[in-house]
Amino acid sequence: MLRVENLEVTYHNAIQVLRGLTLQVDQGDIIALLGANGAGKSTLLKAISGLLPLEKGLIDEGRVRFNERIINRVQPHELARAGLLHVREGRRIFAEMTVEDNLIAASYALSGRETKADYNMVYNFFPRLRERAKQTAGLLSGGEQQMLAIGRALIGQPSLMLLDEPSLGLAPQVVAEIFDIIQRINREQGVSILLVEQNANAAFNIADRAYILEHGRVVLEGAVADLRENDDIKTFYLGMG
Ligand code: ATP
Repeated sequence: MLRVENLEVTYHNAIQVLRGLTLQVDQGDIIALLGANGAGKSTLLKAISGLLPLEKGLIDEGRVRFNERIINRVQPHELARAGLLHVREGRRIFAEMTVEDNLIAASYALSGRETKADYNMVYNFFPRLRERAKQTAGLLSGGEQQMLAIGRALIGQPSLMLLDEPSLGLAPQVVAEIFDIIQRINREQGVSILLVEQNANAAFNIADRAYILEHGRVVLEGAVADLRENDDIKTFYLGMG
């Protein structure tokens, strides 16, 4: 459903960040993308979801295909309507608005309409958001804000969700809770997921396959079951060295 072919990206300061990157997400997959700080993971997600021009980034070479359509120059809102939703790093929610109003705003932005069923679907995955529906979003815990960020994307009924470091800054128990829900979203709603993570253990618990990125290139890829046996992965990513 998603295919990135030989992608090369530079920023306005002429720094080349992606250097011939190829990867694929098939229907129903959860794919993890691991790599050190600065490897280019967030840049890849922005290149896929059309956000790169906002940061003066440029795709110099290569293609991004979503359901066979080349989307190199397609705008983020159009991709969102086509079912490709990007949950960006840092929980971009409206801090001054209530939880419910955040969901309503997402619904209008994505579809131009409001429907009750959308919110119930989100609340079924995240009962804590239902409990806090009338609370100001900025006062939620970090984990709840991440839930809301994912919930806002779910409103768009995505077929593919890009998740940028959902575990960032969260306690292990909260990470486990959120990753369980990500897995349920994948299984119950059939949403394919491309998951950027520093927390390899958490990502491997739910992913089918993974790509390891270094300096803008894929240096290793495979089924998670196989990668778990790789000595470098054990040492550098799973903390088993
Ligand atoms: P992290 O986990 O730290 O977010 P990452 O793997 O997601 O790392 P990117 O955020 O994609 O990496 O950044 C890759 C490189 O591109 C870094 O060297 C970064 O400084 C540079 N970079 C990122 N965004 C911009 C930008 N808007 N303009 C210029 N350079 C940028």
